Amino acid sequence: MKRTYIKDLHEAVGKEASISGWVDVRRDHGKLIFIDFRDMTGRIQSVALPNNKEAHEAASKVRSEWVVRATGVVNKRPEKMVSMKNKETGEPEPNGDIELELKKLEILNEAETPPISVGTDGKDIGEESRLKFRYVDLRRPRMQKNIRMRGKTIKFIRDFLDREGFTEIETPILTKSTPEGARDYVVPSRLEHGHFYALPQSPQQYKQLLMVSGFEKYFQIARCFRDEDTRSDRQPEFTQMDLEMSFVDREDVMALNERLLIEIVSKLFPEKKIQEVPFPRISYAEAMAKYGSDRPDIRKDKDDPNLLAFCWVVDFPFFEKTDDDPLTGHKGWTFTHNPFSAPKAEDMEKLMAKKDIGDILATQYDVVLNGFEIGGGSIRNHEPAALKKVFEIMGYEEDRIDANFGHMLKALASGTPPHGGIAWGLDRLVTLLLGESSIREVIAFAKTGEGKDLMMEAPSEITKKQMRELGIEVKKKK
Ligand code: ASP
Repeated sequence: MKRTYIKDLHEAVGKEASISGWVDVRRDHGKLIFIDFRDMTGRIQSVALPNNKEAHEAASKVRSEWVVRATGVVNKRPEKMVSMKNKETGEPEPNGDIELELKKLEILNEAETPPISVGTDGKDIGEESRLKFRYVDLRRPRMQKNIRMRGKTIKFIRDFLDREGFTEIETPILTKSTPEGARDYVVPSRLEHGHFYALPQSPQQYKQLLMVSGFEKYFQIARCFRDEDTRSDRQPEFTQMDLEMSFVDREDVMALNERLLIEIVSKLFPEKKIQEVPFPRISYAEAMAKYGSDRPDIRKDKDDPNLLAFCWVVDFPFFEKTDDDPLTGHKGWTFTHNPFSAPKAEDMEKLMAKKDIGDILATQYDVVLNGFEIGGGSIRNHEPAALKKVFEIMGYEEDRIDANFGHMLKALASGTPPHGGIAWGLDRLVTLLLGESSIREVIAFAKTGEGKDLMMEAPSEITKKQMRELGIEVKKKK
């Protein structure tokens, strides 16, 4: 018999249907055995009657999380047995008015007693256990919903940007170490011992090079890697919605992103309310003075879980002082956001003359939601001579500039349109839209705050042979 998805069982009332899925809960009343089944589309209660010996016997044998195929007659429940809400969670139960009278129950796979329960929202279970047995943890309805809504959000972004004329382009994962503020993850080369690839901290340079190549509108759902110290709300790898556009100014990029964010909320999260449209704009100086933060939480009612207070923060300083150099005792300069940003037009002269460095403002714009930075970008410095000044201000010598950025400077000198873009932290955005408290609740296979994959047990040692091939020796800790 053809499989019916559990959500479609209403269409089979009075008829026989066959479903496939998991045993969710089993209640054995001796004569009557009730089993709730679950598939990716929903839940259904079934009952095994003693007059059907074979089905009754199978029903007394199965346990939670066994995988089965169940065939039976779909019946309307008697009036007083109808319950359209889950008694424990209060969630709607669309099949609360029907049940499956079991005729046949085939066991497709038995399950050991689950290491963690999937019957609750999981918040009562230690996170380490949830991450270790993630394949079971992901079965709980809350995680199923989160991961599906994440998928829907990404699909929505793709469709929106496709309509706007963007091309989705993949950029390399094995690339070159670049200074983007965080430590790189590096991968040793087998063919050239002592040489290393780096995993991208973001596709920044590649997306700018795609503008040089004439694609004009690029986007990517991009995995990024940053080897940062333990932070509870960070993952070593995370996902950006990354985009770049040519022949645009700051207003164009901000307007497009604002439109996309508003559509995501209204189409996919209609229960949410955006506090203010257009999103208010706050300068960095004002944000610091008024809120003491460059990602201000401007919600008027912090008790309302459905309130989304977006704002833009603009006019960031381009450079900030670095710590004292331990050798010379001098303070240098580094970029606050992105070395490839353009300064504001009125500050270009200062950059070219390398004077009043602390006063130079960047064309950077950050989009903030309820006190979290969910994205940031800028108009880029597409003049090679001006970009070179940025590196000079940061104290890079001529040969270092050439070795690290020679390709960018050459590319910019090959006919480059003015361009700009942005990247969103997609994990964080989806976390906030779903009202979750941690990005690990919206990442299927999340790592711990210490960067460990507890399920795969990564990172792990590699074999001596692998090490020899890579020309690597590990110094034993004393
Ligand atoms: N690449 C930048 C980042 O990862 C974002 C951007 O400016 O597009 O923060």
